[in-house]
Amino acid sequence: MFEGFTGLLLRPGDDGYDEARRVWNGAVDRRPAFVARCLSTADVVAAIRFGVRHGLTIAVRGGGHSIPGHSVCEGGLVVDLSPMKSIRVEGRVVQVGPGVLWRELDAVTEAHGLAVPGGEISDTGVAGLTLGGGIGWLSRKYGLACDNLVAARVVTADGTVLDVSEDDHADLLWGLRGGGGNFGVVTRFTFRLNPIPVPLFAGMAMHPLDREPLRAFFDLAAHAPDDLGLNAALITAPPEPFVPAELRGRPVVVLAAGYLGPYGEGVELTRTLREGAHLDTFGALRYTALQSMADAATPPGLAAHVRSEWLGPMSGDAVDALVEAAERMTSPLNQTLVRIMGGAIARVPPDSTAFRFREAAAMLTLAALWSDSSDDGEPHRAWARSAWTALRPWSAGGAYVNHLDDEGRARVREAYGTETWAKLVDLKTRYDPTNVFHHNNNVPPRRTQRPE
Ligand SMILES: Cc1cc2nc3c(=O)[nH]c(=O)nc-3n(C[C@H](O)[C@H](O)[C@H](O)COP(=O)(O)OP(=O)(O)OC[C@H]3O[C@@H](n4cnc5c(N)ncnc54)[C@H](O)[C@@H]3O)c2cc1C
Repeated sequence: MFEGFTGLLLRPGDDGYDEARRVWNGAVDRRPAFVARCLSTADVVAAIRFGVRHGLTIAVRGGGHSIPGHSVCEGGLVVDLSPMKSIRVEGRVVQVGPGVLWRELDAVTEAHGLAVPGGEISDTGVAGLTLGGGIGWLSRKYGLACDNLVAARVVTADGTVLDVSEDDHADLLWGLRGGGGNFGVVTRFTFRLNPIPVPLFAGMAMHPLDREPLRAFFDLAAHAPDDLGLNAALITAPPEPFVPAELRGRPVVVLAAGYLGPYGEGVELTRTLREGAHLDTFGALRYTALQSMADAATPPGLAAHVRSEWLGPMSGDAVDALVEAAERMTSPLNQTLVRIMGGAIARVPPDSTAFRFREAAAMLTLAALWSDSSDDGEPHRAWARSAWTALRPWSAGGAYVNHLDDEGRARVREAYGTETWAKLVDLKTRYDPTNVFHHNNNVPPRRTQRPE
């Protein structure tokens, strides 16, 4: 049926079909007509040609962590890249297959004392995270994941295979650095590698929910060196043995950091984050351990609804607004997260990649999470929306495309800004004029002939 396809084709009723259609967000329950589990670029070409010939909606799956579940479609065809797991380190670059998860890549590169800046949860996919930008512990020092993408192999909508770099199809490389899955299916990523200390100084400090620790966090963030990655999480402390008894089940502020400089400097730099903490895990940590430190808070299968926003300086009552948002959380799993941007992220000229919001001081993520995916979760969704509305006065102008939920076309456009959007539409019109790749945070081509 799929001419030339050597992978595994799954249809409803087949063994493994239900597992293959499951994505990270447990609220997403879609039944594709086909899941094409690809083993090679040639398989991807065969699958896309089949999908286009039969007018199927095509969803592309890497690590399956798209928040609105873009990597699975109702009816249609999932081009599932998860079996394509190759990782090859060659000096200061690494070639990565599109099914690789960050924990798999980090384990290989850490053995060389090297890393690609990735996200902060280890089971997210390298593919989707990179194509939308990719913000993580190393980004203030080495830039976004997409800033470290130096080449890619791409299957376009008509099944053509292109090797993309600064020298060939440089326009497409520009688009892959933040423009998401709009232009084709990437079957190989080539990244620059960066040195990391093994181990590094990192950890987290847990405080009862209060304004003072957050003020200390923002004071530090305002003049932090690039070597320091910083996050704040306002959550409900889990009922785990490592959490002091008095905090279990209570709202807390978790201040986390990773430092790439000398250990003693890290101790001194993070002192104000740790003062008065009820739990302090800071110490020597492997990068791979830092990368998985928060994994338990977002296991696959939880139902999720997310709002995010780039933040400017957190002046005036911003800390009050954050604390009030956390006090109103409706589920013990909800999270209010602030990731500090700046450093190398901000030094890349905004028009040199499709990722636009480089001047933001921080990124806000409001994640409503609940465990019963049969529940529509409306109170939790409403919390995310109202907390987002309350924090919008500190907006730097839009959202992170990788943290968009189903929020409509205007919000996708806002995530790119007017000038970048216009360039993206040009690129889309050139490489995917009929919008074959529309099951994503879509940039429609001009005169689209398919649903946007
Ligand atoms: C628990 C959790 C933690 C997260 N943490 C971070 C974080 O720390 N930093 C951060 O920046 N982001 C983070 N994100 C957001 C994350 O970047 C996006 O969800 C991203 O899309 C995940 O990539 P994936 O490959 O796992 O997803 P998938 O769902 O497989 O893919 C998402 C979309 O990317 C496109 N795509 C995927 N692979 C390809 C490919 N090979 N070629 C073309 N298009 C492709 C498709 O449009 C697809 O629908 C997090 C998300 C979750 C759920």
